Amino acid sequence: MRILLLGPPGAGKGTQAVLLAAHLSIRHVSTGDLFREHLDHGTLLGQHDRARLRAGLLVSDEVTIRVIQERLTRADTRGGFLLDGFPRSLAQAKALDGMLAASQSRLDAVLGLEIAEAEVVRRIAGRRLCRNEPAHIFHTEFSPPDVPGLCDICGGELYQRPDDSEATVRQRLEVYGSETAPVLDHYQAQGIATMISALGQVTEVLNRALLALGKDRAGGPGGDDH
Ligand code: AMP
Repeated sequence: MRILLLGPPGAGKGTQAVLLAAHLSIRHVSTGDLFREHLDHGTLLGQHDRARLRAGLLVSDEVTIRVIQERLTRADTRGGFLLDGFPRSLAQAKALDGMLAASQSRLDAVLGLEIAEAEVVRRIAGRRLCRNEPAHIFHTEFSPPDVPGLCDICGGELYQRPDDSEATVRQRLEVYGSETAPVLDHYQAQGIATMISALGQVTEVLNRALLALGKDRAGGPGGDDH
């Protein structure tokens, strides 16, 4: 199967991508991971793209398309793949369509994770990290520490990452709305996009995704509940 998983920040896309790919026995391809690798070892990213990557801004379409094109020609994606974090713009979606058509293949499904803006803000803006390593994670509402502001495990000070602030979350959602939502429209027009709710436990969302793909969880690899 060749699948795209789309969803706004805070929808749990990364978690679902890993689980779904494992259940479907297909390769998980994340452009975020690929870029982090290129940042450390590659030569493909110029100064401009490196700076954008470090600032959390989108890398140029041209470089992103080249990175994904190179990745999808490797043998381990021949049996199928799940793309996570790509395409993030209409130009990238059209380039992907072209790449697949050139190799006589196509996407089987596009899954969109749906979540209200207020819920994303609630999930992300409540996140608190311990200043000590390893940075244990808490949530003011969902997993509050026993003593507000202090880590239950080591007593370290808890803080909010700057890019988890409400203002930044709303800005990231705005970028998603303007850049990535048109990608969903594009695949909805092709009749291959399905929206599923990102609310609930991780396993509930996974079951919803498998159902939407016509894959009964009990019949899939390792039909257990981890
Ligand atoms: P992620 O792990 O998906 O949040 O991606 C981390 C960073 O990689 C993003 O903040 C962007 O700088 C870059 N990136 C990942 N995917 C793309 C994409 N499809 N287009 C442009 N930039 C991307």
